[in-house]
Amino acid sequence: MSDLIKLLPDHIANQIAAGEVVQRPASVVKELIENAIDAGSSCINLIAKDGGRTLVQVVDNGSGMSATDARMAFERHATSKIANANDLFLLHTKGFRGEALASIAAIAHVSLKTKLHDAELGTEIINEGSKIASQEPVMMANGTSISVKNLFFNVPARRNFLGKNATEYRKLLEEFLRIALVHPEIGMSFHHNDDEIYNLPIQGLRQRIVQIYGNKFNQRLVPVNEETDIIKVSGFVLKPEFAKASRDQSYFFVNNRYFKDRYFNHAVANAYEGLVPSGKYPPYFLYFEVPTKSIDVNVHPTKTEIKFEENQAIYAIIRSAVKLALGQFNIAPTLDFEQEQSFNIPPLKKGESVKLPEIAVDPNFNPFKPTRSNAPKSSGGGSRIISSKGFGESRTVDPSVWENFYEGAKNEETEIESGTSDGHVDADENEEFEIKTVPSSMNNDLEIERKKPTQINEKYILTSIKNGFLLIDQYRAHCRILYDEFLNGENVGEVRSQKLLFVEEIEADKTDLFLWKELAPELNAAGFEVTIDAGKISILAVPVSLEDKNPQRALVDIFDGFKTNQQNEDLDLKAVVALSMASALATKGGNKLTGEEMQYLTDALFASSSPQLSPHGKKIIETFTMDEITKRFN
Ligand code: ADP
Ligand code: MG
Repeated sequence: MSDLIKLLPDHIANQIAAGEVVQRPASVVKELIENAIDAGSSCINLIAKDGGRTLVQVVDNGSGMSATDARMAFERHATSKIANANDLFLLHTKGFRGEALASIAAIAHVSLKTKLHDAELGTEIINEGSKIASQEPVMMANGTSISVKNLFFNVPARRNFLGKNATEYRKLLEEFLRIALVHPEIGMSFHHNDDEIYNLPIQGLRQRIVQIYGNKFNQRLVPVNEETDIIKVSGFVLKPEFAKASRDQSYFFVNNRYFKDRYFNHAVANAYEGLVPSGKYPPYFLYFEVPTKSIDVNVHPTKTEIKFEENQAIYAIIRSAVKLALGQFNIAPTLDFEQEQSFNIPPLKKGESVKLPEIAVDPNFNPFKPTRSNAPKSSGGGSRIISSKGFGESRTVDPSVWENFYEGAKNEETEIESGTSDGHVDADENEEFEIKTVPSSMNNDLEIERKKPTQINEKYILTSIKNGFLLIDQYRAHCRILYDEFLNGENVGEVRSQKLLFVEEIEADKTDLFLWKELAPELNAAGFEVTIDAGKISILAVPVSLEDKNPQRALVDIFDGFKTNQQNEDLDLKAVVALSMASALATKGGNKLTGEEMQYLTDALFASSSPQLSPHGKKIIETFTMDEITKRFN
């Protein structure tokens, strides 16, 4: 038999290795910025387009490379950072495997320009899919500029797995922050499409954090400082009252490297015990210094986990350091801990007060009125509230659909979500999502009896059926109804929007601006009229289903939901917007409903695309059959 084993050609080997190092545009950002830091840069600029799909470029003023090194840099395992295995334990650089550039070049169009400080000319290399297409001398400033275009151009499977632009953008931003937060000694900027997201000069750590999160942060930071034999802990935690519903401003760094650690998270949370309600997480920025040999970072280049030798001792130190810091702050709340700098905090202007929203609402209008044909259709005055579409016009709800419900229930047992594209959800990314199959407690031959529904605990609607009763979760039911409406809104050629008497404004965070821009067309399709101008979001009109809600607050809720939901890569943008709007606008548990309202919700639910499952994948209805009830009595 002939020999079968062959060495893979380099470009194939590189492509395989690339899969490990480069998962998405954010991985490219991480590798390029780390290289720039290793090259001793004092200024690093990141430029990206379309969440990094089209372009990721990093420009630095670091050491630069010679023409030969520039070519070598694309070879696998080519590195200037370690020479032998021993060096691994003395690592002071971010990179060391010599894989990043080779990997990136294997799956993208790369242009590398670089110039040594004492050289007259730089060199420019074009590398496409691991092939060096050209190398030429070039006039340029000192340092290196690498631009990576058309990521995964030759790996369509990978390309198709990328998230929406908004998702990729958030990941770029996160990668940028993980570096910006630990290198205030480096000036850094981030431009995305046409927006300047950050422009951070060289500054102190506290100033850096404040510049990233806004001046309001200055008052919220409590410094932490603790030095022991095994670890030095420094940085800031936030005052307890500024705890957030998400963990997205929680950062640990060890020896200038970002890492994640659930165990240490817990140590911080523990220090806040009794100070923050459960479900709230105080932001923190904690920096550890430990001897390099006491941690293992050589796990994987893309991993953010780090092994610590003295885990438990460190847990205790973190906890007590944070506790001590909070204690000092509590005893002397007015003490100024650090006079690092002064900030321009804009004073509250006199006469500036919170404007109450004013919306044109027809006070006599009853949204739950079952006879919808006489509801006004114009956008001017009157409005239908819970239903934005008017079932009387586009769909009829009559009791007979209830029977179909049981038919439908049977078929839905295996089908997960009809509203979302395919119902597949990454549980890690979004714990809110819970996809369940429907229990098959429904019986085809159950008959329905229409009786007046009752509300239980201001949360559930109890409705009799011939052979028992149903409990309907009012919030989830309303979510389902609204979600369907928003999702199908486009097909309904009817004005569902209501002009506001006064334009309302929202001040957007710079970092959120891109997301707002992505969201705006969808919001507008769903009945909002939202315009974005230089960081100001103006609300000119709202969907009639917004009811008497404060438009600003509703929109901010929708936006927050959007931020969470857009992590779910399987929902398209329209579905994400519909989901966020439905969750923000649906009537919550705790709201008292009138008989008519309950009747409306019940009817509309059964006319919806999936009465059993909320758009979040949660159960809406629980059935209790006579059989079960009788059994209980025995
Ligand atoms: P590693 O960073 O693990 O060494 P890379 O593939 O990221 O591997 O880079 C290969 C080599 O290219 C580096 O060791 C470094 O010598 C050089 N290099 C990469 N980026 C830069 C840069 N921005 N400035 C100077 N040298 C660079
Ligand atoms: Mg590197």
